[in-house]
Amino acid sequence: MSDSATATAHKVTLIAGDGVGPEVASATKDILAAAGANIHWDEAVAGKEAFEGGIASGVPQDTIDSIDANRVALKGPLETPVGFGGKSANVTLRKLFEMYGNIRPCKELPNIGGPFAGRGIDLIVVRENVEDVYAGIEHMQSPGVAQCLKLISRKGCEKISRLSFELARSLGRKRVTCATKANIMKKTEGLLKSTFEDVAKEFPEFTSDHIIIDNACHQLVIRPETFDIIVSTNMNGDIVSDLTSGLVGGLGLAPSMNLGDQAVMFEAVHGSAPDIAGQDKVNPTALLLSSVMMLRHFGEFETADKIEHALYVTLEEGKALTGDIAQGRPAVGTKRFAEEIIANLGKRSDKLVDRDYTPINMPKVSSDLDFVKCSDRRDVGADVFIESGKMPDEVGKSLEQIAEGSNLQLKMISNRGTQVYPVAAAAFDGVDHHRCRFVMRDKSQAMTEADLLDLLQRVGQSWRWIHIERLPEYNGEPGYTKAQGED
Ligand code: NAD
Repeated sequence: MSDSATATAHKVTLIAGDGVGPEVASATKDILAAAGANIHWDEAVAGKEAFEGGIASGVPQDTIDSIDANRVALKGPLETPVGFGGKSANVTLRKLFEMYGNIRPCKELPNIGGPFAGRGIDLIVVRENVEDVYAGIEHMQSPGVAQCLKLISRKGCEKISRLSFELARSLGRKRVTCATKANIMKKTEGLLKSTFEDVAKEFPEFTSDHIIIDNACHQLVIRPETFDIIVSTNMNGDIVSDLTSGLVGGLGLAPSMNLGDQAVMFEAVHGSAPDIAGQDKVNPTALLLSSVMMLRHFGEFETADKIEHALYVTLEEGKALTGDIAQGRPAVGTKRFAEEIIANLGKRSDKLVDRDYTPINMPKVSSDLDFVKCSDRRDVGADVFIESGKMPDEVGKSLEQIAEGSNLQLKMISNRGTQVYPVAAAAFDGVDHHRCRFVMRDKSQAMTEADLLDLLQRVGQSWRWIHIERLPEYNGEPGYTKAQGED
């Protein structure tokens, strides 16, 4: 590349990745170069090579520095090799740069058969990308009971809700649907629902609605063409977006973008596909379409359109398709497929309806740590979790005795989420993990630190407590849920 070309080139950190990563990265680079995209690739490492080199996070500092400087990355899939490191390098990258919005378009492509072909599916899943159970905060609270903390913040919900509407605005979309499990997880999933509904009032030009996530899956396989943008929490979005990629022909075709204020990272939805790695079989379309999104992010609309049209023409011709989409037709390898796209650059497909794209207006959300302030708060009690192989009756009677003379009294015990003491609400098949709810004897009084410490000291003398949670009230509203069967 000449110096003048380098001077105007868009700098992109390229992480080829593991498994099929180098093959899809190479095909994508070749097609972009042939289309005239002026990119300076800054090649960097993450994933398997980094883990094997002893970097526990799977992301070397050089790679972090490169993304920090370039602010844009194109990434192949990364595996988390069993036996090295603890965390996913993918999650680390997303979290390091607070890339909180994972945008996963799902659009029907020409000549891809399947039960949903011809329905005109063209939707986008917006997945919250840094919170939820993907924080991976897990503990074995007893030898047989595991816990994973699902942390959802009002700030995170506000950012992802606003981003969804801004995305709708930038792409000329009409409807934004929030999909949650708020009917069961009223506090965590419910926080996305209520925040979304508040934010939606500021975007009256869009149809906005809420759907329970399981019904969303049901509707997605019955009438997928009715969806436009779907926003959800991290795990639900991960699952639903794999489902939606299946609707239009599979993981080989599903692109994505990880969006934050500090950096943007484009990647395929699929993983390292070890079963076909190194065999010239992988379909590079997912990473190619991710790079098309990247070009639009740079404002390079003409080059992006040129590549998308060439891909459409190649799919329509159907004479050089990779095995995953060949569907009975003779399949070609990754390299041959890429060559065919290159040969089709400059041709136009009438199947591709060009959309208007305007840059996404990134939401401005306060970075205050105490994002939500509360004028009136008090604790009305505490849940003390106890590990014990004793039956609930014995634990309950003992705890009632232990709490005598303290300001707190035992209200109930639940086991596996269901009340088992003083009245068992259901047939008991419990475990050695009891959630013991203590509340203030005098309900007009708030629990003090001294009350809580006194209780823990008393309980700890006879029982192994493993976890505590305060029972807060914010502006008179309980900040906790009831157990099944609790009055
Ligand atoms: P996978 O997506 O790698 O593969 C699932 C199936 O889809 C395989 O049969 C594979 O051959 C096929 N497939 C995937 N992409 C394809 C493509 N482009 N063309 C043709 N066929 C394709 O999922 P997996 O097997 O569950 O995961 C393998 C590894 O990838 C794991 O280590 C996982 O942690 C990692 N992973 C990484 C990412 C990422 O980097 N973003 C995402 C998912 C999984």
